[in-house]
Amino acid sequence: MPELPEVETIKNDLKEQIIGKRIISVFPLWKEIVKDIPYELFVKQIEGKEIIDVERRAKNLIVRLSGGLNLLVHLKMTGHLFVEDEKSSEISKEGKWLKASSEDLVKDQQNQFIRIIFHLSGGKILAMGDMRKFAYIRLMDDRGLEEFLKNYGPEPLSSGFSAEKLASILKKKNTAIKKVLMDQSLVAGIGNIYADEILWASRVHPLSASSKLQDKDIEAIYENTRKILRLAIKRRGTSTSDFRDTKGLKGTYGDLRNVYQREGMPCPVCGGPVRKIKVGGRGTHFCPRCQKEVK
Ligand SMILES: [Zn+2]
Repeated sequence: MPELPEVETIKNDLKEQIIGKRIISVFPLWKEIVKDIPYELFVKQIEGKEIIDVERRAKNLIVRLSGGLNLLVHLKMTGHLFVEDEKSSEISKEGKWLKASSEDLVKDQQNQFIRIIFHLSGGKILAMGDMRKFAYIRLMDDRGLEEFLKNYGPEPLSSGFSAEKLASILKKKNTAIKKVLMDQSLVAGIGNIYADEILWASRVHPLSASSKLQDKDIEAIYENTRKILRLAIKRRGTSTSDFRDTKGLKGTYGDLRNVYQREGMPCPVCGGPVRKIKVGGRGTHFCPRCQKEVK
C-alpha cells in the first residue's frame, strides 16, 4: 500500500502537471470507483471545475477544485494516478495503455487496470488505475473534507511535530509500538514498510509496549521517522510491490531498505538474520539481536 512518501511523490507530480487545468469531461471504465454519490451526479458536479491545488493528508490525496469542492483520492492497495498527453496516449476499453509517452506505462503490468479517465484542458489526461478495486474517489465540499480529516493524527513531517508530541502519543498506548505507529488516528501516513524500517533504525522491537518505551527510544523513533520518510520522498517511494509514479516509473527507496521483506537475510548492523513475525495481522520484519522487546 502506498504510504506517506509514495502519496507525497504523487502529490508533487500532480502539482506540477494539473494545477490550473479544467476538468473537461470524465470517462469511466468502472464507475464504482466513485463512492457515496451516483456517478452521473459526480460528473455533473465536477465538469468545468478548475483544479486549484493538490494536497496530501495522511495517505489521502486531495484535489482542490473551484467552487469549494474537493476530490479525496485514496489509493488503498494498488491505486495509481497517471498524467499523460491526450494526443500521445491511448487506453483500451479494458483499461490497458495501448500508447503512452513512456514505455513503462505500456509495458509494466502494474500500470494497467485504468478505471477512470479525466480529460483536462491543455490536452492532458489524468487516469486512475487500480488492480484490486479498493481505491476510491470521494467528492467532498470544504466542510465535509475538514470534518473527515479530523480523524487523522499529526503529520510526522510537519513543523508542529516534535519528540515531545510523539512521546505524549506513545505513552498513552499500551499496545505494540508497531501498531501504534501504523494507527492513522495517532500518527498519519506510516504503514507497514516504513514502520519496520523506522523501528529497526531506532533499535526498538516492534512488539515492545508503546507506553513502556524510554525517552531515548522515543527520540530515536522521532528522528528516524523524519529521516526515513524524507529520504524515501527523495527516492520517490518504495516499489518493492506495485507502487509507480504518474509516469509509471518505480521509486528507489526499496534499494535502501534494511529489514522490510528481507527475512533470513543479514541485518546490516550485526549480521544476524532478519526475522519475520506477525504484528496486528501484518508481516513484520526486525532484527532480534538489535531490537530487544520491552514488555
Ligand atoms: Zn541486527
